[in-house]
Amino acid sequence: MGPLQIKELLQQTPDGQSVTLKGWVRTKRESKNAIFIALNDGSTIHNIQAVAAPGQFSAELLLTVTTGSCLKITGQLVESQGSGQAVEVKIDDIFVYGTADVDSYPLQPKRHSLEFLREIAHLRPRTNTFSAILRIRHALAFAVHKYYNDRGFFYLHTPIITASDAEGAGEMFRVTTLDLDKLPRTDEGAINFKEDFFGREANLTVSGQLEGELGAMALSKIYTFGPTFRAENSNTTRHLAEFWMIEPEMAFFELEDNMDLAEDFIKTVITYALENCKDDLAFLENRLADEDKNKPQNERSIPLLEKLNFVVENAFERLTYTEAIDILLKSKPHKEKKFQYPVGWGIDLSSEHERYLVEKHFKKPVILTNYPREIKSFYMKLDDDGKTVRAMDVLFPGIGEIIGGSQREDNYEKLLERVHEVGIDPETIWWYLETRKFGTAPHSGFGLGFERLVLFVTGMGNIRDVIPFPRYPKSAEF
Ligand code: ATP
Ligand code: MN
Repeated sequence: MGPLQIKELLQQTPDGQSVTLKGWVRTKRESKNAIFIALNDGSTIHNIQAVAAPGQFSAELLLTVTTGSCLKITGQLVESQGSGQAVEVKIDDIFVYGTADVDSYPLQPKRHSLEFLREIAHLRPRTNTFSAILRIRHALAFAVHKYYNDRGFFYLHTPIITASDAEGAGEMFRVTTLDLDKLPRTDEGAINFKEDFFGREANLTVSGQLEGELGAMALSKIYTFGPTFRAENSNTTRHLAEFWMIEPEMAFFELEDNMDLAEDFIKTVITYALENCKDDLAFLENRLADEDKNKPQNERSIPLLEKLNFVVENAFERLTYTEAIDILLKSKPHKEKKFQYPVGWGIDLSSEHERYLVEKHFKKPVILTNYPREIKSFYMKLDDDGKTVRAMDVLFPGIGEIIGGSQREDNYEKLLERVHEVGIDPETIWWYLETRKFGTAPHSGFGLGFERLVLFVTGMGNIRDVIPFPRYPKSAEF
């Protein structure tokens, strides 16, 4: 089934066996005694070195062997003469599938800025940095499925097109087949969505949770892992318009169980990456260290592997929102009026507050619970005091919120009251409300933004660099 990948070839014992390589040229170097071609097929961060004798191939052919060109090389796998690799290939023959014009191929063997690489997202997977990120992303996605499969969760496919806007009022992308130049109108002059494809307004989903809950009320433990869309115009390094979210939902889980699962889940998938992506993580760690060289000592980041191991080995700090507000009120930046936004019970914590708690005060991941009901979603279970809800946010250093979750309100009357309070028309989510009428049960769940996880594990600084083709305001080119 196809040729051996370079990753596999690099692990073979060299005894002159004949091999076939297929891949893209990273560099070609000609010296007096030999021609060296470094080939990469994306299976590993490492290139394989192929060597030809001077004069073995015509100058005409060698001119087409350029950085970025795609080759088939046949030859013998031998012990490497040079340092830096164990094996190399003594070339017998080269076939050029496609050359890459030297003057117009934008990727040269040097460091390009991440901003520039975003403009050539069709080619950036061919760089070391992006191929490493994409391999780690794959490993984490696999680890997510493995984690839930191993624990008796079922993968539930929740819809991407949704007609309920209960969750994301104002942040949703509309789905329509109406002719925007000739919108059908009602007698009152409003747009007549009865004539639209679904006979009603429809949008791209902001979360699979509501449907996920329906699944949990039958299968007990489910998870979703799918694309999610938010039309929020936040041009930050942590927001995308299209991202992937993992949303487990569990019957018979209370808030404590939910926190335990979230913490164990994150630690397990990071451990999987540590064990299975060693070369790529080492590459990214060096890359970060390289970038840090020019920074003053106190601004340098913790080495990537040390950071990941720290998260895996230490318990997350758990405290209530109320306790967090007390800490912030007593904090130096608050007393010295250094926070941009005011602190007080009832505020929606801004990222400067979250970062203070995580990066300065506790210096580790934090799980905040029991937020004021006013700043959280209608479906979260009310605490006995009537003021707070059983919410939990997991906050990570450098990232901020990585998980948002809660125990769900399972009491029909209380849920209906909240629905009215926040101004949702109960008719639009009658099916959601019915789960509380027919065999309701305590249940909990959360949402993890997959790209925020990849961001943390790769140590990258911008979420646009951890998804192959990012979607953000004014950008959907590739
Ligand atoms: P934030 O306050 O950071 O915008 P949120 O409160 O809107 O997050 P939730 O609605 O709770 O987030 O979504 C669950 C998770 O999805 C978040 O914890 C985060 O990891 C991820 N997430 C949310 N919005 C985005 C986005 N625009 N791009 C990427 N990931 C996101
Ligand atoms: Mn948001």
